[in-house]
This record gives sequence, structure tokens and C-alpha cells, in this order.
Amino acid sequence: MPLPPNEPPSDFIRDIVADDVRSGKHTKIHTRFPPEPNGYLHIGHTKAICLNFGIAHEFGGLCNVRMDDTNPAKEEVEYVNSIMADVHWLIDGWADKNLNPKAALDQPSTIPPLPWTGYAVASIDHQPFFASNYFEPIYQYAVQLVRSGKAYVCDMTPEETDEYRRIGRESPFREREVAENLDLLARMKAGEFSDGARTLRAKIDMQSPNMWLRDPVLYRIRHATHHHTGDAWCIYPLYDFAHCLSDYLEGITHSLCTLEFEVHRPLYDWILEALELPDSRPKQIEFARLNLTYTVMSKRKLKQLVDEGLVRGWDDPRLPTISGMRRRGVTASVLRAFSYHIGITKYPSLTEVDALEHAIRAEFNRSALRRLAVLRPLKVVITNYPEGEMEELDAINNPEDPSAGSRKIPFSRELFIESADFMETPPPKYFRLKPGGEVRLKYGYIIKCDEVVKNSLGEVIELRCSADLKSKSGGPNSQRKVKGTIHWVSAPHALEAEVRLYDRLFTVPDPDAEGDFKAFINPHSLEVLTAKCEPSLGDAKPELRYQFERLAYFSLDPDSRPNEVIFNRTITLRDTWAKEATKA
Ligand code: ATP
Ligand code: MG
Repeated sequence: MPLPPNEPPSDFIRDIVADDVRSGKHTKIHTRFPPEPNGYLHIGHTKAICLNFGIAHEFGGLCNVRMDDTNPAKEEVEYVNSIMADVHWLIDGWADKNLNPKAALDQPSTIPPLPWTGYAVASIDHQPFFASNYFEPIYQYAVQLVRSGKAYVCDMTPEETDEYRRIGRESPFREREVAENLDLLARMKAGEFSDGARTLRAKIDMQSPNMWLRDPVLYRIRHATHHHTGDAWCIYPLYDFAHCLSDYLEGITHSLCTLEFEVHRPLYDWILEALELPDSRPKQIEFARLNLTYTVMSKRKLKQLVDEGLVRGWDDPRLPTISGMRRRGVTASVLRAFSYHIGITKYPSLTEVDALEHAIRAEFNRSALRRLAVLRPLKVVITNYPEGEMEELDAINNPEDPSAGSRKIPFSRELFIESADFMETPPPKYFRLKPGGEVRLKYGYIIKCDEVVKNSLGEVIELRCSADLKSKSGGPNSQRKVKGTIHWVSAPHALEAEVRLYDRLFTVPDPDAEGDFKAFINPHSLEVLTAKCEPSLGDAKPELRYQFERLAYFSLDPDSRPNEVIFNRTITLRDTWAKEATKA
């Protein structure tokens, strides 16, 4: 999936923004990313973050992070904090040339980075904006709508309201006098009425074919403690009322949201128009959300997986959450590259997870340090190698990056190889180890399997081999060719590490489409092994990525301790779903 040369992304939204700059409609572009703090961010949000911050970045504008926190029941401070941590992780350093999102998928960028102004406003003190900070001005706007006869207090129950809107019937309270409406609204705010007793509704058009224009509810009563405003309010604006006004109050020029809000746009515009707001008004533009195969994306469903203990937490590496992917070892630059690569359109679609996996492999192939590790060890004794002797062999750190240099790896008489690299009765064209056959040990000697040792159950427990001692690199037989090369680790020097092998969390491409998504959880999505690793992996760094040669890419899990190394498999070397890389 090669990318075109390093051009800035182009799409219909960027075209609109560019037109607005060219025509002089806006001199400063201002976008926002408005998550509701009711869960952790997922890779779908990555698309929205990269779009909003990307546009701000490209047009020298600003992007606000705003907590869309108008529903006290579902929102929590833990989510506010995780959202900020994830946004920072994703965009910090973006302006760095080396982290140009295009470069991560392709060659290093030739585009000079634009000055990064995009998130200064939102995070000068690392604080987001909060829609709840605008509760007072939003309330004043509601009063203004009531005064101008464009909103009324309705006493119908939520169920009646829904039903009347569905059939297009007007509320009996629709023609209430302005003075009575003002009085009731003030008393709603003062806490005189119970939850659900009254609402404030816009007076628009009960016959409109667009349901959202059938006198939508603007305010409801909720006696609940809000994570940010505490008990200051007992009436809360609904999304449609709060969102356009929050955009307006922040001076947002382009309010980018996903397609399901397209039908809300006439209401967004109606509210700004009805209030006769003076300055230039924000424009809502919709784009298709990201859906990814073999996963679920809604926060509600992710929360179910977490709450029901089906995964280990919001940052479980099998989840598509930003924190889960970070823990798995996926880098911010990969996510940005992926977001740019999938592009922005108006058409709903399901993106193959392979596209994300491709982006990970493309970056890691360039950056990961090569290391030797054996996941499922089988002992090998080199019978013609002296007991007690050890030598250090030269191993290249990264063939894609000469500056990564080389290291020494210990070799001795007793080794471990991958048990899948030996077959007693192999099929034709099997080029790994077999009785009487030869392979080259990576960076080392050619060995021949002379004897297969089994236990009383008939299982192979050891191979006794002889080495061509002249065949190592630099030796007289170093050019001798055998068909297979396998990885290995010196047994007495091996470092034991826990490795966590992750696989797709679901067994079907679209678990949402098939009914109960939890029925399709992959029971083999996590396998934990104790691997034998070359000793240098004892110094593994969390910020580095490792390719265990011939196996997969790994990164250090944050739970690792100096004597308790834990690696997460970020991704296999090739697309080997349902087929382990070691067996390929
Ligand atoms: P979810 O259903 O997962 O809870 P949401 O849309 O309710 O998603 P918000 O917190 O309201 O989540 O989303 C914040 C911003 O991110 C919104 O502008 C929303 O449109 C955008 N967004 C959410 N999910 C996706 C997605 N899958 N692809 C692209 N943008 C998304
Ligand atoms: Mg939402």
C-alpha cells in the first residue's frame, strides 16, 4: 500500500477550509476536538484528533480540546484525565520533522514542519476547555430565546414529548406566555421541580420532515452532581443546544463532526440564527467515522468489556483504545500516519484492520532493533563444541539502519531453538532442522542434527547436533550455503521474559453487525509464554521497539521490573492471522 509522495493530505474538508481562507471569510482557522468524558478515547477519535489538529496545524490556526460534558450522569474526572493524556501523547512532537505523520508510512518528509500553534490555546496549562464552563452564558442564551418567543417550557413527560414529536403533534404548552415561560425556566434552574417534570423546548416546526426540528428539548432537569460544576446546576443543556453555542463562544470556525450529526445541522444553524449572533458563526461539516474490522469502537461497548472483566482494563492491549494501543507498543506516529492514510470522506465504510497493521510494520521495520528470542524452546546440544566454552558473535542491530550498529551475543554448547523449527518427519521443501539435516544458526554456525532425544512419552526433548566450526561469519566456510536459517539463544545465558501474545479480540470482521458482539470474542486473544531471550534484552527500553527475529515486533510492558521483564507482542512480522509466524 505505497503512499503518494509526501503531500499534505487533501480532502473535501480541507478544500472548504482553504476556500474560506482564500475568500477572506476567516483569517484565523479554529477547530476543536470535543470528546464526551464518558470513557477512554479509541482509534476512531484518533481520526477526529488528527483531522482537527491537522487542519489547525496546516492552516496556522488553533485547535481546542473541549470536554463535551453536559450529561452529569455518565461523566467522570478519570475520563477527563485519560483523554488529556491520550491527546497529548498523540500530538506532542507532531511538529517535529521526524514525526511528520506522512514520514511514518513513507520516506522521511521533505516538507518543512509548520510552526506548531495548534494546541497552544487548549493546553497552555494542560487544561482542556469544558462545555460546562459555559453553562451560565448558555443559560442566558436560553433566556434570550424565551424572551423572543422562540422557546417555551413544556410540562409533558419525556415519553409524551417523544410520542408527540414522533407523530408531529404540538405540545399543549407551546403557546405559553413569555412571562410564564421566563418564570418557569428560572424556577427550573432554582431547583423547584423534580427530574423530568419540565423541559425547555425550542419552538420550531412540529411538521418538519426533520425530526430534530420538531420542537427539540434544549434543557432538562437533572438533580445530579456534575464532575466539573458540582451541584451548581440542576438543569443541563442538551448536546444540540450546548454544542453550537460552545463552538460559537470559543470562536470555532469549522466544527467537524461525524456523519450522524448531519441531520442535526439544521438545528445547529437554527439556534445560532435564532439568537441573531453577531460575529462570524461556526460552520458544521460532517465526515464518515472510522470503523475498523475485528473490533468494536463505541465507548459504551468498550466500557462493557472493561466492566465485565472480559479484558484487563481500558488499556488492555487488545482494545482499540488509544491507551490500549500505546500499551501494546503502537506509536503515536503510526496512529497519525494511519489517520492520514485512511483519509476523510462522506461515505460510511469499514476499514480493514490490515491497514493499521501495515502502518505499524512499515514504521517498525525501519526503527525496531533486531534481537534473538525463542518463544517455545527446544534444547540443542552442539556435541563438538567444548563444554564450558563461550564466545561472542557479532549481530547487526537493524539492517534497515546502519547507524543502529551491532552487538555481541553469547554462543555456547547448549542452546535453545524454536520448537517449531524442528520436524522429525517434515514435508518436502522443509528447510529448517530435521534429522540428518542442516541449518544455519543466525549470526553463527551451520549445524547438523545427528540425534533426536525423546522422553518416555515419545516427545522430542533435545537435539544433539554437530557444528561446522569453520562456517561462522569470518571463517573459511562462512560462504557455505544451506537453505534454512533459524534463530537461537544460548541456554546458560538466556534471559527469561514473560511474553504476551495478543491476537484480534473478535473472531468476525464486524462483531457489531452480527447481534451480540460479546458472542464473538476470540477465546485465544491472549497467550502468555515464558520466552528465552538474548541477555541484551534485560536492558530493553520502554521507548524502543524490538523485532524478535523471524517472530514479531515486541515492546516492553509498563508492568516490567528490572528482574521481571514483560514484553507485549505489538504485531507479527507478516499478516499471519490464524497461522503463527513461527510456523510460516
Ligand atoms: P462513541 O460512540 O465511541 O462514544 P462518540 O461520537 O460518542 O463516540 P465523542 O466523545 O462524542 O464520542 O466524540 C468526540 C469526537 O470524536 C466527536 O467529534 C466525534 O464525532 C469523533 N469521533 C468519535 N468516534 C469517531 C470515529 N469512530 N471516527 C471518527 N471520529 C469519531
Ligand atoms: Mg458522543
